[in-house]
Amino acid sequence: MDDKQMLMIPGPTPVPEKVLLAMAKHPIGHRSSEFSQIIETVNHHLKWLFQTQHDVLTVAASGTGAVEAGIINFLSPGDKVLVGSNGKFGDRWVQIAKAFGLDVQVIAADWGQPLDTEAFRTALESNPQIKAAIVTHSETSTGVLNDIETINRHVKAHGQALIIVDAVTSLGAYNLPVDELGLDVVATGSQKGFMIPPGLGFIAVSPKAWEAYEQATIPKFYFDLGKYRKTAAKNSTPFTPPVNLYFGLHTALEMMKAEGLEAIFARHERHKQATRAAAKALNLPLFAGDDCASPAVTSILPDGVDAEQIRAVMKKRFDIALAGGQDHLKGKLFRIGHLGFVCDRDILAAVSALEATLQELGYERFSPGSGLAAAHRVLLSR
Ligand SMILES: *Cc1c(COP(=O)(O)O)cnc(C)c1O
Repeated sequence: MDDKQMLMIPGPTPVPEKVLLAMAKHPIGHRSSEFSQIIETVNHHLKWLFQTQHDVLTVAASGTGAVEAGIINFLSPGDKVLVGSNGKFGDRWVQIAKAFGLDVQVIAADWGQPLDTEAFRTALESNPQIKAAIVTHSETSTGVLNDIETINRHVKAHGQALIIVDAVTSLGAYNLPVDELGLDVVATGSQKGFMIPPGLGFIAVSPKAWEAYEQATIPKFYFDLGKYRKTAAKNSTPFTPPVNLYFGLHTALEMMKAEGLEAIFARHERHKQATRAAAKALNLPLFAGDDCASPAVTSILPDGVDAEQIRAVMKKRFDIALAGGQDHLKGKLFRIGHLGFVCDRDILAAVSALEATLQELGYERFSPGSGLAAAHRVLLSR
């Protein structure tokens, strides 16, 4: 049957019909007063979502572009930076930092483990020259949520260093009060917690980061955030933006405002807990521990049943898309996304289909119905 696909991957995430319809229009001129009004409203709402009074700038890029912009605007070649790496995305920020000539010290942890906050403390205490710590909050490749609050405390104690956060799968899913924590640069992308398709990147910038911007000499043009700041002040953009994505963003942000931040965070927490409870009941080993589990994605490292076969049956029989493992975990891990426009019904449907899939594949280490019952119990209790 056509058109019944359910996306349970951590991006792109499902898009509400209201948002799709908002985008299904002729583009309008990006210098028109109508569009200017949309930019004004959207920028206002973005500040609400990021919990900041300062700039949240929008670029036409995927999340990687947003993080790249968040790095190159505030640093100079040769600057010493700490980069946390405990998964695919952390690895990517190491590559970007090196590509732009930064002096990178990698703070690594095994995939599936959280970053060691003490390693950040020691490195920061021993080197007053460090210019920035670059940290992935929710490491989507493994389903680990890094302890950004503690790492940030160590960065604050250092004084000079900026904290640059990849919040791509945490913003809009987990409480990340940008101003209250004093985070300097926070980057994310539209296809994750925003309930709209890929194509927009967002970067929150603190006043301290703007001071660093004045000294920063890494070459930049399209991603020069100074340009975006200047035009945002006039409810405009430096270049032609993806106009229709802005229509969608406008609608999606209004939906988020109507739901409220606390309710959004509680929903993601509930879905995380329900998915994890189901995995435990099904005797499927969770890749990330209970104390460091991402609100956006649950990673499972099955034993006695093949991860790729699970994904194939889920897709073929039930039209439910799950994500696979990345890099060395390809073929071993599967990941259930529960980010953005996801409701309780989606979780129950995915868990039921997963049970049926496991039975079909001859995996018998659970009693039928136990995963669904466990997920349902969590959903009822919260
Ligand atoms: C998706 C994602 C990104 C950005 O990836 P793009 O494909 O460039 O949008 C960055 N970091 C994390 C943690 C992600 O999940």
